[in-house]
Amino acid sequence: MPRPIEALVHTAALAANLARARAAAPDARVWAVVKANAYGHGIERAFAGLHGADGFALLDLAEAAALRALGWRGPVLLLEGCFEPRDLEACSRLNLWHVVHCAEQIDWLGRHKTQQPHRVFLKMNSGMNRLGFTPAAFRAAWARLNALPQVDEISLMTHFSDADGERGVAHQVAAFDAATRDLPGERCLSNSAAVLRHGLANDWVRAGILCYGSAPDFPAHDIHHWGLQSTLTLRSRLIAVQQLQPGDTVGYGSSYTASAPQRVGIVACGYADGYPRHCGTGTPVLVQGVRCSTVGRVSMDMLAVDLTPVPEAGMGSEVTLWGRGPDGTLLPIDEVARAAGTIGYELMCALAPRVPVSVTE
Ligand SMILES: *Cc1c(COP(=O)(O)O)cnc(C)c1O
Repeated sequence: MPRPIEALVHTAALAANLARARAAAPDARVWAVVKANAYGHGIERAFAGLHGADGFALLDLAEAAALRALGWRGPVLLLEGCFEPRDLEACSRLNLWHVVHCAEQIDWLGRHKTQQPHRVFLKMNSGMNRLGFTPAAFRAAWARLNALPQVDEISLMTHFSDADGERGVAHQVAAFDAATRDLPGERCLSNSAAVLRHGLANDWVRAGILCYGSAPDFPAHDIHHWGLQSTLTLRSRLIAVQQLQPGDTVGYGSSYTASAPQRVGIVACGYADGYPRHCGTGTPVLVQGVRCSTVGRVSMDMLAVDLTPVPEAGMGSEVTLWGRGPDGTLLPIDEVARAAGTIGYELMCALAPRVPVSVTE
């Protein structure tokens, strides 16, 4: 028997979450963001649930090629654009749209030989200071692009630093609007948090995390609040049970000490599976669908769970690390992420290659 850990991707939940994005942005076209191997779900598996999107946004040429190989003929957008001039050949060949965020990328386009002019998304740095032209430099960049025979339609884009938090998006929207007021072209501004929290939708929205059933602004709001469904389950089984006496400790560093007699289950899941090591005693976990807590440190291949809430559990009992448990129970990935001091995004992306993944409804 293989080690009992496995991950499940729920394609119907992906589709339902995409529908949620459409409902929140009814007049916009929706990019399903599938970078980072579809936030750890796998491009092909994610495609099975998200093929109703208007386009797919990602970073890697290999992922773009994978989408084309799956038969997707619609828009594909490279969110960081090209990394070197020859990437433009792949863009021409695979008919990819690409972000242009710096002067070098315009230089490369100017020297590129192509039959078909490219659709580009010109990116403004409206305050995040990661990628893009400053508002002051934006118009000149647009004019340079517009003069190139290699360039077809130019769309305008920016990215928010605080759509999920206190500061919000208004200051960046104002900077963007002021610098683009009389420029033609479709607009693409919002990520998941901007769509859900601010109801902001232009011609295109970029829906990432919401597709994958994690709330962009957890713990302020959870997936239930946003009407999202869990798309990724990580589950395993108990492979041993220990009966502790007061004073007994669990795991490396003896970081947990029993204060009373206690049953502890050992789960075949550790940080080498992508479970976060930085979550201490008390991280939520479901055993046979009953909410329990981890005890002690997470090790490479195992972690320990207090079985007090579920005395009937034993060898082989089903354990849900996050996602859907038996009988309609649910443990949102965001709760586990929070216990580990991180966000759902990171847990999804960290799912380890050694975990077998299957697709279910
Ligand atoms: C990742 C990314 C997104 C998606 O963000 P979510 O918070 O996952 O919705 C949108 N736009 C850009 C430029 C990105 O890099």
